[in-house]
Amino acid sequence: MKNSKLLICIILFTFLFISLLKSANRIERYLVRIKGSKEMLEALSKKNLDFASMALRDYIDAILTPQQINQIISKGYQIKVLQRESDLAGTPIAPQYHTYEEMVKYLEKMENLYPHLCKIYIIGESTRFGLPIYALKISDNMNLDEEEIGILIDGMHHAREPLGNEVCLSFINYLLTRYGIDKEVTQWINDYEIWIIPILNPEGYKYLVDNNLNYPWWRKNLRDNNENGIIDPDYDGVDLNRNYNLNWSKGGSSDPSEWTYRGPYPFSEKETRAKRELVLRRNFAIAISFHSYGEVVLYPWSWPGSGDSAPDNSLISEIAYELSRRIKNEEGNGTYTYRPAYGASQSLCWMYGVPGVLEFLVELGTSFIPSPDKIKPIANSAIKGLSYIMNRAGGPGIKIKVMDADTGEPICANVQVMEIDNFNYIIPRITNSYTGIHVRLLQKGKYTLVISALGYMTKKLKINVGDKMKNIIVYLPKIEEWKMRRLMAQFIPFLHN
Ligand SMILES: [Zn+2]
Repeated sequence: MKNSKLLICIILFTFLFISLLKSANRIERYLVRIKGSKEMLEALSKKNLDFASMALRDYIDAILTPQQINQIISKGYQIKVLQRESDLAGTPIAPQYHTYEEMVKYLEKMENLYPHLCKIYIIGESTRFGLPIYALKISDNMNLDEEEIGILIDGMHHAREPLGNEVCLSFINYLLTRYGIDKEVTQWINDYEIWIIPILNPEGYKYLVDNNLNYPWWRKNLRDNNENGIIDPDYDGVDLNRNYNLNWSKGGSSDPSEWTYRGPYPFSEKETRAKRELVLRRNFAIAISFHSYGEVVLYPWSWPGSGDSAPDNSLISEIAYELSRRIKNEEGNGTYTYRPAYGASQSLCWMYGVPGVLEFLVELGTSFIPSPDKIKPIANSAIKGLSYIMNRAGGPGIKIKVMDADTGEPICANVQVMEIDNFNYIIPRITNSYTGIHVRLLQKGKYTLVISALGYMTKKLKINVGDKMKNIIVYLPKIEEWKMRRLMAQFIPFLHN
C-alpha cells in the first residue's frame, strides 16, 4: 500500500519533471570565495545571500549570480570563483549517495530487520509534487507511547546537501546494529524515542539528482511561485530553512527569485509544517539538523537588531561547544567550530523560541557533495557528536508532568524557570496537552519553578538539579468557583474605566 503510493508519486513526479523541464534563459551561478576585513565579512554575513558555508573564517563562501558578484566587488571585497554551475552540470551523483528512492528502501529494509526497534512514519509530503516525507522512529516497545524523552535528527532542508541524508542513515545503522550489544546504545533506545528524518526536502533533492546535477546547487523545494506550471529554476521554490515562524520577516528574502526566498507566509510549505506537527505532538528535548558545509555548529541565537543571546545561552553555548569539539574536521588537524545563528526564520530559532526544543545546526564537510570516499569518515565523525547529544539528553535537566489534582488528567500548563526565562524572546514553556509532560535541559544548579494553568492554583517549587534528569510530578488543584468569582470581580472596575 505504502509502496504503491510512493511508486505512483514517483512516476507522476518523473512524468511532470520531463514534460515540464525547460531550460529557459538561465542565470548561471558561481561558487565564490569572498575575502575582506573581519568587519566587512561580519557585515556581509548578515546579508540575505545564499551562503554556501556559514563558517566565518577569513573568507566566506557563497553562491552568487554575476550581478551579485559585481555588487560585492564594487563594495571593496575580493572575489575568487571556485566553481561554475556548468563545471558540474551533466554528471550523475555518485552511486554511493543514497537517492530519495534508495533512502526509502533503506528505511524499509531496517524496519524489516528490526521491527521491534523501529517504525516508519510518513509525517507529511512535499509542497509541489506530494512526495512523502519519511521519518524513522527508533525506540523499544515500538507500539507503546511511553512518554519518553524525544530526540529529533533531520537532514536535507536544502536539496544540495546530501551529507545530511548519509549521516542520518549511518546513524540509523549505528543504533540498530548495536542494540543489545553496546551498553550505551541499548540504553539510549530503551530510554528515548529517537526520530530521524533523513530528507526533509524530497522534491528539491530529486530535482537535483534526476537532472544529473544540471542545477548542482539547487537549495529550495519546487513551489511554483509564478503558478505557470513549469519548473523555473530562476524563480520557483522556497528556502525551507527560512520558512519557520520566529522573526520570519527578518530572515531570508521576500523575492521568489532569490535562493533564500522565505515563502509567501510563515509555514507556507508542507515540509516545514510536517516538522512542526511532529514536534508539537512529542516531548523533544534536543534536536540536530544537518546541513552542509563549513564544519561549524550553529546554535540559537544572535537576536536581530540587538544581537542579544538566547535566555538559555549559558546552557546552549556549552552544548554547542561540547558538540563541536567532538566532531573532527576533514583535514584531521582539529574539530568543528561553533557560533550563534542569526535569530530569524530558521528551524533552530523556531524550535528553541516556540516549542522550547534546543536545536543545533551542524554544517557538515567542506563542500556540498564531496567525493564519495569522504562520506564514511564524515558520518563516523558526526556520530561522535551525536553520541554526546544522546548522552546529554539524559540530563542535567527536568522532566515534569503536570496533572489535575482531582482527575489525574494531564494539563497543558506553563512551566517557568524564574532564573532564566525572559518572554521578550521565547514564548512560555508549556507541557504537552496530550501527555502533560515538558522536558527541559538545564545546567546543574538550584532553580525556582512556577507552574501555572488557567483555572488552577499556581505552584512554586524550589528544585535542585544534579547530574541526571530530575523527574517531577505536579498535581494542580482547581481554583474553587467562589475564589474564581472573587478574582474576576477585581477586574470589573478596570473593565468599566
Ligand atoms: Zn543547508
